[in-house]
Amino acid sequence: MSQFLPEAFQTYIPMLIQLFYLVAMALFIFGIKRLSSPATARSGNQLAASGMLLGIVVTLFDREIVTFEFIIAGIVIGGVLGVIAARTVKMTAMPEMVAIFNGFGGGASAIVAWGELTRAGADVTLWAGQDLGTAGLGILIGSLTFSGSFIAFGKLQGFISGRPITFIFQNYFNLVLTGAILVLIGWFISDPTNMPLFWTIFGLSLFLGILTVLPIGGADMPVVISLLNSYSGIAASMAGFVINNNLLIISGALVGAAGLILTNIMCQAMNRTLGNVLFGAFGGGGTAVAADDIGDKSVQKTFADDVAIQCSYAKKVVIVPGYGLAVAQAQHTLKEVAGLLEEKGVTVKYGIHPVAGRMPGHMNVLLAEADVPYDQLFDMDQINPEFKSTDVVLIIGANDVVNPAAKTNPGSPIYGMPVLNVEEATRTIVFKRSLSPGFAGIDNELFYADNNQMFFGDAKKSLQALSTAIKELD
Ligand code: NDP
Repeated sequence: MSQFLPEAFQTYIPMLIQLFYLVAMALFIFGIKRLSSPATARSGNQLAASGMLLGIVVTLFDREIVTFEFIIAGIVIGGVLGVIAARTVKMTAMPEMVAIFNGFGGGASAIVAWGELTRAGADVTLWAGQDLGTAGLGILIGSLTFSGSFIAFGKLQGFISGRPITFIFQNYFNLVLTGAILVLIGWFISDPTNMPLFWTIFGLSLFLGILTVLPIGGADMPVVISLLNSYSGIAASMAGFVINNNLLIISGALVGAAGLILTNIMCQAMNRTLGNVLFGAFGGGGTAVAADDIGDKSVQKTFADDVAIQCSYAKKVVIVPGYGLAVAQAQHTLKEVAGLLEEKGVTVKYGIHPVAGRMPGHMNVLLAEADVPYDQLFDMDQINPEFKSTDVVLIIGANDVVNPAAKTNPGSPIYGMPVLNVEEATRTIVFKRSLSPGFAGIDNELFYADNNQMFFGDAKKSLQALSTAIKELD
């Protein structure tokens, strides 16, 4: 597009482009920084998005654009699909949407590398070895991210079984396949015009993506998606090296690093190693336990009127939200109940476990949507010492994150995972539809404890009934 600018201006263009790229990068970094608090997250997102817009516009001046038709079509189609997806996706389906976007990101990076190779034609033999190597690795990581992300999406959506799909010696097979692809990339560096070789690398990388994600249980998909997000950033960074674009190199590196940090946080919060997530075939859907099929154990059932009395006469109530709150979309009703209790002079706090829900920050976003004040949200470390002095804990659609087995049962798959010490409160009340297990697929001893009561039913309906019951107490 630079050809449309005045002649005298032309010499400054490369310098100005790099300057604006720097501004765009700064916007990304400050945008990410603001994502660290729910109060500033929205503006942080807008800041990063404006950096992206600036990056796109500046890139149009950086390249000699042959035709605008594809660019405009891409912006319109991508923009419309992005807006529709962002506006219509349910909070519970956010990991699926991220999976698809990662997949497209990885695929786009692979296509950039392929496009540059095709554009260079026979001149590709003049490329330095490291550029060819970077292009090859970009195709490997980009294609693997593409196919792996779609398998992750399929597992979360239930198109593909959530159980680990594996065959004998699969991990070794994957290792050999990775080694074979790297050898082929080495060969490609010495023979870059060999297109059948190029397509073989591409095809095998897609296959590797499928084989890498299939053996991982559906339960671990959010961690896998975060890891694939990191891969898509690395692939973008490599594409940046191929086309010599600083903005792409740095923004890709930011995504790569952010994805890795997030993966690490999720693994730590579940007290599992990344190796255990990737190769441990964990989870994948537990067996449902019907309310009348719990052997000699028994639970105490409770109802709205009783819960209303217990909460209204309490000094302190802590609410622990979980995945079921998101499924029931009960956040607004929950806020209403909390408001009614506060009007009665009850201190209400929310205890947020780092992996409550199905993605990091899931509960914070959900509660922010219902305008729950941020100063009422407490992290696990902040709220845990408070349970001893809490009268009632309302556990809404949460299960694994309050399972004491994580502390007491060394044989439990979640043993070692930090959990909320809700059992230390005078009374716990669990809102859920049945005694079915949560994400980790295991039973929860808390349900059968003497100081626990079960309020069975859909979280939204139960909270609506509770709200009515509290109002009737007046
Ligand atoms: P869980 O998955 O342990 O439990 C959710 C509970 O919600 C279920 O037991 C279910 O019981 C109940 N539920 C579902 N729908 C409804 C409804 N409509 N109304 C009422 N209850 C409902 O959720 P937690 O939030 O406690 O734990 C999160 C789990 O996800 C952890 O195991 C964590 O490791 C895992 N995880 C989280 C990630 C994250 O980043 N947040 C990432 C990866 C994994 P019932 O069917 O009986 O109603």
